[in-house]
Amino acid sequence: MMKITYLGHASFKVEADGKTVYVDPWLNGPTSPIKVKDVGKADIVLVTHDHGDHGYSEALEICKKTGAYFVAINELAIQAREQGVKNIHTLNIGGSVDIDGVIVTLVQAFHSCGVGAPTGFIVRFSSGTFYHPGDTGVFASMKLFGQLYKPDVAFLPIGSYYVMDVRQAAVATELIKPRVVIPMHYDTFPVIQADPAEFKRLVNKQIPEVKVEIIKPGESVEV
Ligand code: ZN
Repeated sequence: MMKITYLGHASFKVEADGKTVYVDPWLNGPTSPIKVKDVGKADIVLVTHDHGDHGYSEALEICKKTGAYFVAINELAIQAREQGVKNIHTLNIGGSVDIDGVIVTLVQAFHSCGVGAPTGFIVRFSSGTFYHPGDTGVFASMKLFGQLYKPDVAFLPIGSYYVMDVRQAAVATELIKPRVVIPMHYDTFPVIQADPAEFKRLVNKQIPEVKVEIIKPGESVEV
């Protein structure tokens, strides 16, 4: 069982097997229910790319205060070490690392960024697996991630403009076939307004065995 807490935009906290993992912790963002000072325990902090709305600077602060591992693509993780983070893993596309029983895999995303390349993460606990694709358009190899890792839950952007829209995200859900899908990266700014109910309607029609969980910032679900 994984306890998943939505921190707004593309930010999540996932707790499982006694570990706490943050992904893209944009805690200074307008929709985050918490700030860095509210973060207690953290073991691993993942950052998909260095755009400001994905929490790179907050990730550095969390890692410095908790000793958590910072995991990102090679060049971004090296930059984090140069900026004072002690524990890092410098993955690259396709690579995995086992951090005290939590297996983190870096996968491709189709987007842009400043340092390194844009990425997504697949994280395997003994009690469940999640896929966070970062910011991306849909791509056919999402099907391979489904075959290889059988994620229990996928967090999928639906806001369009910078990322997938609801139609692409519904097709991505078909490709990945998670047990549960959670829409993200919408409504934070006017240009990424989207209707999660429309996403749910499309998924229910196209792949009814997948459960759509629409959660608000600050809410949690157990998967
Ligand atoms: Zn971005």
